Amino acid sequence: MAEKLAARDLHTLQDLWFQLPRQYEDRTRLTPIGDLRPGVAAQIEGRVLAVERGFRGRPVLRVAITDDSASTLVVRFFHFRAAQVAQFEVGALLRCYGTPRPGQHGLEIVHPSYQVLGTAGGDALGDALDPVYPTVEGIGPVTLRRLIGLALDRLPDSETLELLADAGDLPPLREALLTVHRPPRDADVTALLAGTHPAQRRLALEELLAHHLSLRRQRIAQQAHRAPELLDQSLATTMRSQLPYRLTGAQQRVFAEICTDLARSSPMLRLVQGDVGSGKTVVAALAALVAVASGRQVALMAPTELLAEQHLANFREWLAPLDVPLVWLAGKVTGKARQQALADVASGAARVVVGTHAVMQESVVFNDLALAIIDEQHRFGVHQRLALRDKGDKGATGGANAGMVPHQLVMTATPIPRTLAMSAYADLDVSSIDELPPGRTPVQTVVLASERRPELVERIRAACAQGRQAYWVCTLIDEPDEDAKPGAVMKIEAQAAQTTFETLVAGLPELQVGLVHGRMKAAEKQATMADFKAGRIDLLVATTVIEVGVDVPNASLMIIENAERLGLAQLHQLRGRVGRGSEASSCVLMYRSPLSMLARQRLETMRATNDGFLIAEKDLELRGPGELLGTRQTGLAEFRLADLVRDADLLPQVHELAERLLRDSPEVAERIVLRWIGTAVRYAGA
Ligand code: ADP
Ligand code: MG
Repeated sequence: MAEKLAARDLHTLQDLWFQLPRQYEDRTRLTPIGDLRPGVAAQIEGRVLAVERGFRGRPVLRVAITDDSASTLVVRFFHFRAAQVAQFEVGALLRCYGTPRPGQHGLEIVHPSYQVLGTAGGDALGDALDPVYPTVEGIGPVTLRRLIGLALDRLPDSETLELLADAGDLPPLREALLTVHRPPRDADVTALLAGTHPAQRRLALEELLAHHLSLRRQRIAQQAHRAPELLDQSLATTMRSQLPYRLTGAQQRVFAEICTDLARSSPMLRLVQGDVGSGKTVVAALAALVAVASGRQVALMAPTELLAEQHLANFREWLAPLDVPLVWLAGKVTGKARQQALADVASGAARVVVGTHAVMQESVVFNDLALAIIDEQHRFGVHQRLALRDKGDKGATGGANAGMVPHQLVMTATPIPRTLAMSAYADLDVSSIDELPPGRTPVQTVVLASERRPELVERIRAACAQGRQAYWVCTLIDEPDEDAKPGAVMKIEAQAAQTTFETLVAGLPELQVGLVHGRMKAAEKQATMADFKAGRIDLLVATTVIEVGVDVPNASLMIIENAERLGLAQLHQLRGRVGRGSEASSCVLMYRSPLSMLARQRLETMRATNDGFLIAEKDLELRGPGELLGTRQTGLAEFRLADLVRDADLLPQVHELAERLLRDSPEVAERIVLRWIGTAVRYAGA
C-alpha cells in the first residue's frame, strides 16, 4: 500500500493531511426526481418501473425509476454483472447518487452509486457530507478514506501545524483541515459544496501562497542560470522575406520582444498569448531560426501528436529552403527510426526537433539545446517545463552549453486575464499577439437544436458542392463512470464519432467523408489530415482531438454536436479551426434539450462574439460554484482545493504574504511550498 501511495507522492502523514477532498457528495438529503437538474449531483430514492437490457455497440442496462414526484429517471450501466441485473426487480426500492444528464428520454444518470433498500423504505440518510478524495490507483475509496482518517487522528497541535502568523479572520489551519476532511453535521453545506467555506478559504489561501512562492522562487533560480546569447537574425530575416504575407504589427512586436530576451545571457521565460489564428506558429519559427543561426538546437513540443504533426509540416515548409535539418520525435517513433532520431539529436545533426512530450524523456539527449518552445502550455505542467530546462546542459561533455539552460518560449491560445496570469505564471513574462492577420472574415455562429440535424446535412451538401470543406465535431455524450480508465473518454468519443461518420457517409454519398479520433493510429490520423488539407476529403468527422492547432484555411463550416457539453474555452478553440481563409465561415452549435442555464449563456456568448479575450472574461464570470469544482477546464495550474477564479479575492493577500515571507523567513516559505507541492516540483536551487 505504501508503494501505491508513493506513486501518488503520498509518503508522510502530512501528505495525507493535505490530500484534500476533491468534492463532496451530499447524501444528507433526497431530491425528488422531478426536481433534478442536469449537471447537479443529487441523491434520489425511487422504485424500479422497468428494466431493459440492450446493445448499442456494447451491452447497456437501463433501469427506469420513479418516485412520489411522479417523474421518471433512467439509470444506465455499461458494465454490469448478472447478479446486479437480478437486483433490479420491478418494484424494488433504490437509492442512487449521481449526476443527471439529459438523455434520450429525459434525464438519466450513468453509473450512479446505488443501494437496494428494504421494501419498506425509510432507511437513515447520511448525517454529514461525504468527502470524495482524488483516486489513488489500487486503493479503493473506502480504504483511502480510512487511511486519511487514521492520519488525521495523528494531527499535531495547532502551534506545530501553523506556519502563517496571520491569516486574517480565517480559521487556524488545524481547524480548517478537520472541517474540510470531516465536515461537522452543522457545517454550512452550501458553502462547502461551493468551496467557499472559511475552512476551505483558509486552505486555499495557503495553497495559492505555496504555488506563488514556488513560482517566484523558480523565477529567481532561473534568472541565476546562464543561457547562451542568441544574436544572429539572418536566417529569420530570410524566412520573413520568403513568407507569402507580411507579419502583423503584433507579430513583429512580439518577435522583437523575444529577440531581446534571446540576446541576453540569462534564460528567457516568456509566455506568448494570442487568440486562435493570430499566427503564433510563424513567430515561434522565427525565434527558432535565431537559435539555429546562432549555431544551437531548438526543441518544439506540442501536447498532442496531431498538433505536433501540424507544426512539423509548417516547419518543414519554412525550414527546408534554408537547409535546416529537422527531426520528428513522438511516442510512436520507435525502433530504428527512434535510434536514428536520438542519434541525430545527440550529435547535433538535427538542429530543430519537433514532437510531443516524448521530447522531454530522459533518453533524449541534446547536443546544444538553446531554445525550448512549448505550444499550448496549459496542457503541460510547470514540472514539464523544468524537465526541459534541464536538457540544456546535458549536452556533450564540455560542449558549448555546459552549465547553461535553454531559453523557453511558451505559447498559449487561452487568454488569461491579467491578475490570474500574474498568479498562474508568476515565473513568466507575457507577450500578447493582440491582432489577427488581415482579411479574416469573422465566423458567423448559430445555435441549433439537434432535431434540426437533417437541415445541417443539406447545408454541408451545399457548401461542399461549392468546393468548401467542413468539420463535424463529435463530443462526449455520456459521462464515463467515476473510476473509468483514462482511455475510456477517448473510447466513448471515438465510438460516437464512428457512428456519426457512418450516418454521414450514408447520407452524403457524393462527398468524401473522413474520420479522425484519438484512438486511431498516428499514421492513419496523419494520412486523413493530409487528405483533408489537400482537399481530397470534403467533410471531416472528428472528435475534439482537433481542438488545438489544426490549420486548414479552406474549411469554412464547422458543426459541433452537443455543444452544450463543452466549456467556452474549448468551444472557442474548436471554432478557431474555421475562419482561417478569406471565405465567410460559419459555425453551428448543436445542442440537445433541456439546456441548463449556464449552457444557454455559454452558447449565447459564443453566438455573440468571436473575441477570445471577451470569451475568457465571460468564462470566468459564468463559472458558477458547481462548475468550479472541476479544475480540468480552467487550464491553469492544478490545485488541490484553491481555484484561481473563485478565490481571486485572496490574491492580494497571497502576494503580500509571499513578499513578507521571502524577505523575513524564507525557511517558512520553503516549508509551505514543500507541504503543498511536495517533491513533485523542484524549485529554487533544486
Ligand atoms: P495560432 O497558432 O496562433 O492559432 P497559426 O500560427 O496557426 O495561428 O496561424 C493561423 C493562420 O494564419 C495560418 O494559416 C498562418 O499561415 C496564417 N498567418 C499567420 N500570420 C499571418 C499574417 N501575418 N498574415 C496572413 N496570414 C497569416
Ligand atoms: Mg497554434
